[in-house]
Amino acid sequence: MQTKLLATSPSLQKLHLTKKFTQTLSVAKKILDEYSLCTACTGRLFAKKLGVLSYEQLGKKIYRLLKKNESNKCFVCKNFLLKTNYFVDKLLELSSEYEFSTFLVGAILKPSIVDNDDEIRSKFQLRGIDSVKTDFTNQIAKIFSKKTKSKIDYLNPEITITIDLKTDSCQVKSKPLFLFGKYTKTERGIPQKEKPCSNCEGKGCRTCKNHGICTFDSVEGKIAKVVFDKFGADQIKVTWIGGEDKTSLVLNKGRPFFVKVINPKKRNIKLAKKITQDKVVIHNLHLIKQNPKTSFPFKTKIQKPIGTLIKNTIAVYDKNKRNEKLIYSVKYDVLSSTSFSLSMTADGGLPIKRFVEGTDVFPNLTDLIGTKCSCKEFDFHEVKLV
Ligand SMILES: [Zn+2]
Ligand SMILES: [Zn+2]
Repeated sequence: MQTKLLATSPSLQKLHLTKKFTQTLSVAKKILDEYSLCTACTGRLFAKKLGVLSYEQLGKKIYRLLKKNESNKCFVCKNFLLKTNYFVDKLLELSSEYEFSTFLVGAILKPSIVDNDDEIRSKFQLRGIDSVKTDFTNQIAKIFSKKTKSKIDYLNPEITITIDLKTDSCQVKSKPLFLFGKYTKTERGIPQKEKPCSNCEGKGCRTCKNHGICTFDSVEGKIAKVVFDKFGADQIKVTWIGGEDKTSLVLNKGRPFFVKVINPKKRNIKLAKKITQDKVVIHNLHLIKQNPKTSFPFKTKIQKPIGTLIKNTIAVYDKNKRNEKLIYSVKYDVLSSTSFSLSMTADGGLPIKRFVEGTDVFPNLTDLIGTKCSCKEFDFHEVKLV
């Protein structure tokens, strides 16, 4: 790889004939008389100014011309800059189980490395050069990109690679995915939510294979099992559209839910229209673009019409007699994709059922929302005398 990079830097061969390079050599001599630097760090200090791509090759040339012996241990990078291939190999192995087309590389360095790098740059007034960290991650990214045929993405990469030089370890994490589906439940006794792993309380540990759960008996557990199997994910976070008791059944079209898939290995999975997991059936589970919590369609649909009710006068007609009732405040809660609860403070005598259904009451919920509404139940919380 290094030789390939060298081939694209045409100036290196004739570099020693230029005036810029003569100046460089005299600065380099001063630095190397005082500090022990590796060839990569030596090259890095001058490469940009000279338009050379391979820091290491430039560093070698400088050493050769100054007739110096290459140092054993670099004052700045402690020689890790010379080990890029070692890290790339590690990353290739770690990332091999991930499906990705874009990535980003980050590194965690010991503070002393950053300090030493700054010391040299400020002492010899070297400006506009890459820091040891940038240089390291750039070198790795370049090679990794070629080997995996993937692209660097600074804003929204599919995988993020972190190299921790403090502990000599690497980590790969992928961007979460989001799914939407519905489920039905035809037998009583299945709870909706799964108990967290007792060892880690759901954070993820070795016992639960990082899943945060160890059992798969609930609706959540059944969904998790499918997602873990198909996407190779670490964990899931489910947003339920409404809740239920473990004794209740979920029938007909089923209850909708959203899943955030954490650290998925596979990204392009097509799921069956119907996935049966014992007495729970998952319907039409599919990938969606983003976490829909904030743009849930039913909530958006009712938000505005309900908002118009606040401080609004409602006209109630009884046998040609018209009465006015004022609504003071309104609050609502979405319970499912088709139901919500409404609590409001209003003048006494407002016929609630007729206000919901739209029988001789204007405005009413059925007209406002544009769908036939019915009132399942209602309670009075407080009756005030004014
Ligand atoms: Zn170095
Ligand atoms: Zn655990």
